[in-house]
Amino acid sequence: MKVDSSLAEMHWKHDLLGSIEVGIVVLDKEFNVQVWNQFMENHSSIVPGMIQNKNLFEFFPEIDEQWFTRKAAPAFSLKSPVFIIWEQRPYLFHFNCSRPITSQAEHMFQNITIFPLASLTGQVERVCLVIYDVTEEALSRLGMQSLNRQLEKMSQVDGLTGLCNRHFWEEQFVMEYKRDKRNGNPSSLIMVDIDFLKEVNDMYGHPAGDKIIKTLASIIKKTTRETDIAGRYGGEEFAIILPDTPVANVEFVAERIRRLVEKCTVVYDEKHISFTISIGIAGFKDTYKDSTQWLDSADKALYEAKDMGRNQVVLIE
Ligand code: GH3
Ligand code: MG
Ligand code: MG
Repeated sequence: MKVDSSLAEMHWKHDLLGSIEVGIVVLDKEFNVQVWNQFMENHSSIVPGMIQNKNLFEFFPEIDEQWFTRKAAPAFSLKSPVFIIWEQRPYLFHFNCSRPITSQAEHMFQNITIFPLASLTGQVERVCLVIYDVTEEALSRLGMQSLNRQLEKMSQVDGLTGLCNRHFWEEQFVMEYKRDKRNGNPSSLIMVDIDFLKEVNDMYGHPAGDKIIKTLASIIKKTTRETDIAGRYGGEEFAIILPDTPVANVEFVAERIRRLVEKCTVVYDEKHISFTISIGIAGFKDTYKDSTQWLDSADKALYEAKDMGRNQVVLIE
């Protein structure tokens, strides 16, 4: 009678381990496997008989032994549970995803709990790993993060040219102004305006004008450094911040942009269109009361360039 009831108890415990939708692994102090449930068998194709009393790391070389041993240590020594979440490590066991909804994932994302199993004497001789499949949650979180990154990028970039849009550029400019005020490292500002774009629009059509704007943007991108911040300030006006660059070194960059534009030809609707630009440069000055004064100086230089006949660079020291 006694044998029967313990057998029956073993049976339902076996069923319980087999039917739950989480992985259950019991490990001894040497990390030899004592229990390996159906979930683990289904996902690894390793049956309990194969892995029983065998070292976990021999079967799963993807597990960083040193890291995992250190991670599990408090469960043995302090008798406290340990949690490993997918954001720290996407998985412990490299399992494929079985559910159709999560098939876009290359592997199952897992949260792991390691909790101590005390013997009758209170010693922790074994730990139990519970492996949760959190693939759906992880994918939706990752999807959200990537969507947010895309939206953030879209809110900063000008659609036609791929440069910073005016709003984002202005934010960067104010930050640069404050940085210059603080550390006294001089930066420079370049303003660019296309000459007679209205005439181009009138003569060849608005899309031709757009192509000119795009061509200028790509020349600016090519000519400036990655740390420079170029933005589309207005319809056909561009502004470039050159951090930590005194005006003396900027005239050369501006002149290069001007010459490249002068030499290039935009082909639109089989027509070859040439264009020129005017450029104003203003270096940061400690006497500026705010960033607008700096911008006004560059604008003044630009209009001087226009007044003097266009297709030239004017610098305000
Ligand atoms: P200038 O600057 O040399 O004085 O002459 P401009 O003809 O370029 O005159 P201004 O800068 O004052 O005017 C800008 C013109 O650029 C007017 C407008 O038709 C055109 N423009 C502004 N934004 C766009 C745009 O996004 N696409 C096109 N195709 N044209 C634009
Ligand atoms: Mg203009
Ligand atoms: Mg113009």
